[in-house]
Amino acid sequence: MAEIVTEERYVRQIPIMGVEGIQKLKQSRVFVGRCGGVGGTVINYLIRSGVGHLVCAHGGKIVPEYLNRMQLAYESDVGRPCVDAFKDKTDAINPAAKITYVPQNITEIENLDEILGGVDIVIDAHPLFEERYALNAAALRLGVPMVSGAMYGDEGYVFTIIPRKTACLRCLYPERPKFWNDIKVFPALGMGPGIVGCTMAREAIELLLKGTSPLSGRMMHFDLTDMDFAVLEMPKTTCNH
Ligand SMILES: [Zn+2]
Repeated sequence: MAEIVTEERYVRQIPIMGVEGIQKLKQSRVFVGRCGGVGGTVINYLIRSGVGHLVCAHGGKIVPEYLNRMQLAYESDVGRPCVDAFKDKTDAINPAAKITYVPQNITEIENLDEILGGVDIVIDAHPLFEERYALNAAALRLGVPMVSGAMYGDEGYVFTIIPRKTACLRCLYPERPKFWNDIKVFPALGMGPGIVGCTMAREAIELLLKGTSPLSGRMMHFDLTDMDFAVLEMPKTTCNH
């Protein structure tokens, strides 16, 4: 019965990736840093697509302000550890997905390289530059492709880093932008992180299947205020970070 459900689950993906693609996704392993508005969307779509193994890092407890954008948090979860709330949802979405939850944010993880061992790609869904720089450095150190996404209000962007081939986060932002210090309440409506997360998940699938992706070395940028979407070329300098 379980096998029948599994086959039916992915039948509409066969025209896109074939049975071989579905098998490949089942054997893939992805790290997701932060599982909020952006990362939770990525996780939702990766496990619905049949990615077999995830390692997901997110610290803290569910608070009411998460509920306007986080797909993996419900009102009844307020006060619970985030990873417990997320695990309930992901178990219900696709129990075949093997997910290791790490109840810490990336800057608090001491054995990061160990946790990232064996992953095919990493997903940078972090809101803070300290966290994004930490995963960027780890991805470059380990030679693992990284899909990076971020949003602010109605704006968002996604780009993919192929270590030693395309620009990295440090190439784009050598230092933390100064305006970041002045943000008091980070503006977010659920749709912006949702679009970023969906785009990142699609990038991740393409990377897992083909080893490259449309946004490797390019950036998809959008502004929902005027529904402006654009793909920008990033500098092709070989990264030395
Ligand atoms: Zn760089």
